[in-house]
Amino acid sequence: MPEEDSPKFVFVTGGVMSGLGKGITAASLGRLLKNTGLDVTAVKIDPYLNVDAGTMNPYEHGEVYVLKDGAEVDLDLGNYERFLDVDMTSDHNVTTGKVYRSVIERERAGDYLGKTVQIIPHVTREIKQRIRGCAEGHDVCLIELGGTVGDIEGMPFLEAVRQMGNEEDDDDFLLVHVTLVPLTSKGEQKTKPTQHSVKALRELGLHPEVVVGRSEEPLEDETREKISLFCDVPEDAVVSAPDVDDIYRVPLVLEDEGLESYAMEELNVKARADDTSWREVVTQKQEGRVEVALAGKYDFEDAYLSVYEALKHAGLRHNVDVDVRWVETDRMDEGDFERLEAADALVVPGGFGERGTSGKLEAVRYARENGVPFLGLCFGFQMAVVEYARNVAGLEDAHSAEVDEGTPHPVIDLLPEQYDVEDLGGTMRLGDKETRIDEGTLAHELYGDDRAVERHRHRYEVNPEYIDDLEGAGLVFSGTSVSGNRMEILELPDHPFFVGTQFHPEFRSRPGDPSPPFVGLVDAAIDRREARGERDTAGKEKEEKKEMDVDVDVNVEEVT
Ligand code: GLN
Repeated sequence: MPEEDSPKFVFVTGGVMSGLGKGITAASLGRLLKNTGLDVTAVKIDPYLNVDAGTMNPYEHGEVYVLKDGAEVDLDLGNYERFLDVDMTSDHNVTTGKVYRSVIERERAGDYLGKTVQIIPHVTREIKQRIRGCAEGHDVCLIELGGTVGDIEGMPFLEAVRQMGNEEDDDDFLLVHVTLVPLTSKGEQKTKPTQHSVKALRELGLHPEVVVGRSEEPLEDETREKISLFCDVPEDAVVSAPDVDDIYRVPLVLEDEGLESYAMEELNVKARADDTSWREVVTQKQEGRVEVALAGKYDFEDAYLSVYEALKHAGLRHNVDVDVRWVETDRMDEGDFERLEAADALVVPGGFGERGTSGKLEAVRYARENGVPFLGLCFGFQMAVVEYARNVAGLEDAHSAEVDEGTPHPVIDLLPEQYDVEDLGGTMRLGDKETRIDEGTLAHELYGDDRAVERHRHRYEVNPEYIDDLEGAGLVFSGTSVSGNRMEILELPDHPFFVGTQFHPEFRSRPGDPSPPFVGLVDAAIDRREARGERDTAGKEKEEKKEMDVDVDVNVEEVT
């Protein structure tokens, strides 16, 4: 491959502590590079032994994000897709589990015959191959190493990075270290933790070329000088990344800091374009707000991250801020009902297991009976079917077989291909599937097409035996699978906006290209708010932090 065609590798490590926004920083740098006309891709390394995120607790890692190929991955991949406006695949999430699995499979197959299989060189070689495989054909590959420098789990990956630093040309390799610059109670910025984390990297033979200082306030000149001196990077390679309200503005902050121009100089690449569309989308003036109730069981934004983001994107399309009010569905109290009543729209997101279902059903009923714009996503779609079956179609005690195995009317039932499935990892109906949309329906109007390809993650579906009963009672299934036997979209014609999707449209939503069902929901929310005379309830909110529940929303019924 001629030199100028070889991909550039930009590694992003984190220091001091996790949760610094390393992923957002990396994705923002990627966006800035993309704005210059470069073809940018990304890899997220998760140094845990799980093969993928599919069976992980949303309280620990946030939502499980689903890619087009059905991979169940870390939510950071969602940020990369949204910031870079690309579609990624399972290969772009490298985990210790995947790496070790292939090394062990190879050993069993006899590929290393005669050799002692070791972290160096066999595991590190596998890691490098995976990274290079993802980078192929792109100008730049960003590689974010999850966790914090010094974690035992991350060591083989850091060693692989070190080796790549030697193997690649200088201008094909850049190491960016994102670190915390804490404030003392006297308001003084401290650089010692940063110095220590850079020292830890150096001990592993890695020398960061850019240090991004995450802090509450912009880095002071003195802080910058100190980091430059003690971490051995030029002053213009110290980047100030203070907290911002809106993650989509992070690229703008980093651009002002000159991060991408510094990176491009180091990587010896020239701008081919000046795409300003991101700036235009994220800085447009918002002219009002709507309140959307999100009825779920986790009071934790990351557990529904893509739903929050998709709502934000739809808000950008309509020039309104979307304030999301969380409604607890496990033990609904007065405050939850007040939030529901005050809301201009309701979203019931995906979920698993029994906990919170009665609250979700109540919320759906409220929205249906009171003309509140409603969007049900996956489990939310299924709850809308159950609610309609019970309260309109007269199917007493109808339920989802997932929640109540003994229900007399399992209107939601296991997908037939799931009958013999025992393993829980990667075995649901996953990823992109095509939906056929009936003309003359709201869904058709929203998508502007008679087909839509959206991402799925479910084990249950509308039971075909009940479709006639439900449709006879007025529920419209406006979208079905290509085979026609799977219900994918539902709607109620006599309601301002009542839509459910068996798929997860939130995963394909982008800031400049919002998801159609979300655009429709926010549009209807604006109408409702206007009709109600813009009642402002913001002052009423006194969010009491509820006790965190410990049960786990993995892809099987709950443990409670
Ligand atoms: N638990 C439901 C199912 O498996 C819904 C899944 C979801 O909301 N992602 O079908």
